[in-house]
Amino acid sequence: MEETIERKLNALLDLQAIDCELDKIVKMRGVLPEEVEDLENELVILQTRSINIQEELSNLEQDIVTQRTKIKTVQALVKKYEEQQMDVRNNREYDAITKEIDLQKLEIQLAEKKSRGAYEQIDKQKQVLEQCQRAVVENKQALTDKQEALHALMEESQEEEQKLHKRRVRVIKNVDEQLLQSYDRIRANVSNGLAVVVVTREACGGCFSKVPPQKQADVQEKKSIIMCEHCGRIIADVIVVAEPEDE
Ligand SMILES: [Zn+2]
Repeated sequence: MEETIERKLNALLDLQAIDCELDKIVKMRGVLPEEVEDLENELVILQTRSINIQEELSNLEQDIVTQRTKIKTVQALVKKYEEQQMDVRNNREYDAITKEIDLQKLEIQLAEKKSRGAYEQIDKQKQVLEQCQRAVVENKQALTDKQEALHALMEESQEEEQKLHKRRVRVIKNVDEQLLQSYDRIRANVSNGLAVVVVTREACGGCFSKVPPQKQADVQEKKSIIMCEHCGRIIADVIVVAEPEDE
């Protein structure tokens, strides 16, 4: 039993060492992966926006065509009324047609106003589209640069990373499932990536809180899995450091 716990703890320490190496590799890439992701998301937004503006432009152009057709139809109607006006038999008929003509002329004015509005909108949207398309070009360039930089970094560490992953697969076989779950959970909740630590100079190697002598003795016995009472990390061992004489 004792040997089993010790073996489990040693396997955990091996796993922790490998993960620390892997963390270092990931850390070297810095914020590049995040930046690449941000730029990718931004590009999708810009491209969608660009498509939306183009759709809006085509709607506005369609609007103008509609208004133009309407103006022509109403103009023809006005012409017809004006001809009818020549043949009226009395003032009342004349006035009624005049009223109708005025009404139709208002329709024309309204259609012209709508048309002008659409032209103005087109001008504005074209400027926005231009800005948007410029941003797409800039974004694509930035994305390519970042992707290349990231790729170069990844290529550099690829071999080492693969070796570490292979070792990790081997080591993980010696860590039991429940302990591995605890390890993953602790690792996910700590900022320095250390789930398994050793006691050095009486202190937990994860949070540096003092570990009581009895607890240190328990750890050294290796009869059970001991956690740091302050940070919850697994304490795998106690390193006894010989203090220099003059300290
Ligand atoms: Zn601790």
